[in-house]
Amino acid sequence: MDSYKDPLKELARPYRKAVLKALLVLCVIGATLFSAMNLMRGSYPLAFVEIAMGIYSIIVYRAIRNTRHLERWIIAYLIPFFTAMVFAMATPRATSAVHAWVLLIPIISHLLMGRRLGLAVSVFYMGIAAVIFVYRHLDQPDMMQALPITNIAVISLCILVFSHVYEVTRETSERQLMKLAQTDPLTGLANRARLSDVFEQEKQRARRYSSPVSVLILDLDHFKDVNDNHGHETGDLTLQHVARIFRECLRATDVAARLGGEEFGILLSNTNSRQAMEVAEKIRIAVASTPLTVANNVIRVTLSGGVAELGTDGDTLRELVREADIRLYKAKEDGRNRIIPALSPSTATANT
Ligand code: GH3
Ligand code: MG
Ligand code: MG
Repeated sequence: MDSYKDPLKELARPYRKAVLKALLVLCVIGATLFSAMNLMRGSYPLAFVEIAMGIYSIIVYRAIRNTRHLERWIIAYLIPFFTAMVFAMATPRATSAVHAWVLLIPIISHLLMGRRLGLAVSVFYMGIAAVIFVYRHLDQPDMMQALPITNIAVISLCILVFSHVYEVTRETSERQLMKLAQTDPLTGLANRARLSDVFEQEKQRARRYSSPVSVLILDLDHFKDVNDNHGHETGDLTLQHVARIFRECLRATDVAARLGGEEFGILLSNTNSRQAMEVAEKIRIAVASTPLTVANNVIRVTLSGGVAELGTDGDTLRELVREADIRLYKAKEDGRNRIIPALSPSTATANT
């Protein structure tokens, strides 16, 4: 059974993979150069660590090509990478310039691990780097003065803050864009794509806990007449009015979507078809008994619908919608303003 995928993580994957690949290539080049220089200087432990990181970079590069676990590989690479970095800083024979590498930590960790883990890992390794820096330079009075220390601290803090703010802003705007892409602009209800996403999650939950899931398809009756008699704008207001009634009648866990025109799909989690029928009736009665007044015109609409339940009526959203649609058309044929339940179409509730 495939598990639920966080859509934000899915969106971030391609560019995180690209950043990681660039880092791996640069690391192989860097490891080759530095290990050669350190071998010549006789810094064997450091050269060994650099060679090991170079080889590990090549292994990770090959491993991430088709991986489904990019996030795990990122952590499995960055922890040894940053550890090697602080090891280099702690090596007595290493030059002081090696400390400049600390500025890479917040950038890389935010780009590759997101705002939370990125910040935690940055603070941890930058903290260690700071301790090593102070320890190494304690006996160098020219480095232990307020000005150089403040300079280094402020530039490090700036890069940490910029990286974090960038990542927070990116995640927020990506979340907003994703919400927009899954919302019907007229009614604010979900659109078909969101209904489909939520259905897949609910289907997994239903399998895991053996809980029922039902789908309602609702279509406004003679809606063309509303447009023809009162204008398209009033038609739009009516659609918004109906959407408001849906929200009032539904639980927070239910998802109402506008599938197109004046047709709606409602996903009811943890609800069998008999309970779904009750919800549908509640909505039908609320819509029929709540007229909308626009410029002194009283607009009354009704709706017809069909119910389908996961399992008995099919296993995919497409199948459930098709079954519910068949019942919806039966409701239209039977005179509208009615819902046809799942399983026993003969028990349709007729109303005036
Ligand atoms: P039935 O009871 O058989 O469903 O009749 P109906 O008139 O509701 O069905 P039909 O499919 O003939 O017409 C649907 C109408 O919905 C036609 C179209 O003008 C209107 N419509 C579709 N989308 C919108 C919209 O976004 N805004 C407005 N105002 N009207 C819309
Ligand atoms: Mg209609
Ligand atoms: Mg329609």
